[in-house]
Amino acid sequence: MHEWALADAVCKTAEDIAKDKNLIQVDEISVVLGQVQNIKPKVFDRIFEEVKLQYSSTKSTKLVTEIEEAELTCNNCGNIFGIDDRTGFEHQTSEDMHFIPETARLFIKCPKCKSVDFHITKGRGLYVKEIRGETK
Ligand SMILES: [Zn+2]
Repeated sequence: MHEWALADAVCKTAEDIAKDKNLIQVDEISVVLGQVQNIKPKVFDRIFEEVKLQYSSTKSTKLVTEIEEAELTCNNCGNIFGIDDRTGFEHQTSEDMHFIPETARLFIKCPKCKSVDFHITKGRGLYVKEIRGETK
């Protein structure tokens, strides 16, 4: 599952940073979830709670997530838009499927010129924003 791999990557990153910075353990980790990844923070949190036990420095880490809203730029008219009702992205679709950026273009059109030729300028990735912990 997509979320497992991502949660694992986040824990691995935390573990590496902890080693690098001589942290006894990671107390808190802030993760930014790009809207395009379509991950529910609640689901991610639950998986993180399991995955974190596999790493020595993240066993009691508190996860803080925030969503970075997607920003799409139309290649045809230069319009910048988000993924919401205006783009015709149906609610049901976004609830039910895990779309990846490449398949996103099947469902999204530029609200201005209706072009499907756009690129994602924001909200695509998932990254660790901040890590807090006690040093040795
Ligand atoms: Zn356009």
